[in-house]
Amino acid sequence: MTLDTIRARAAQAAQSAGRDPGDVTLIAVSKVQPLDRIHSVLTQGQRIFGENKVQEAQGKWPDFRATFGEVDLHLIGPLQTNKTRSAMELFNAIHTVDRPKLVNTLIRLTQEMGTCPKLFIQINTGAEPQKAGVLPQDADALIRNAQDGDLPVMGLMCIPPADLDPAPHFDMLREIAVRNGLLGLSMGMSGDFETAIAHGATHIRVGSAIFGDRTPL
Ligand SMILES: *Cc1c(COP(=O)(O)O)cnc(C)c1O
Repeated sequence: MTLDTIRARAAQAAQSAGRDPGDVTLIAVSKVQPLDRIHSVLTQGQRIFGENKVQEAQGKWPDFRATFGEVDLHLIGPLQTNKTRSAMELFNAIHTVDRPKLVNTLIRLTQEMGTCPKLFIQINTGAEPQKAGVLPQDADALIRNAQDGDLPVMGLMCIPPADLDPAPHFDMLREIAVRNGLLGLSMGMSGDFETAIAHGATHIRVGSAIFGDRTPL
């Protein structure tokens, strides 16, 4: 599929839900993709990208930024505490804030650096043992911890369990956001971004539907 097709489908999903298509941000997830495919999507005008590893992103985005100018980079993969500073230097947004230790490191570094990317708190809506994200019952406390430290918490993020209907997970994410006064909802991937938009997504993270599959070359 092409970038234009995904944009059109996202806009259509927003309209069907009575929402303004401008309220849904498309993050093109470029992890593991060959550079020529990323180059092509940049040439088509896309300027918001998602990466899941700090080091991988450090390897390609400085050059692309030198060529194409400002690019909004979103970290959507797990963040080790010892890579927090590098992540804050490279990314405009971090979607995977999920534990007190990381929140406290972000608070300390923000005070030192004077700036912080936009943050999303990742919620493990399915309470899956192998998955990152704070458990739903611990979400309010972690959000408050971040807000008390003056971090710029824009919203919440989730990755629903692979084989289940994602809709209840999107609804749970929205409920937690609403009761905490947060507006951003990072939810929806290639297979379910239209459902996510119907349930209130403000940021959709779409990889393979734009770039093709990620099978190693
Ligand atoms: C890889 C990834 C995506 C994109 O997945 P696709 O199914 O290729 O659209 C979205 N969010 C996260 C957190 C990811 O790791």
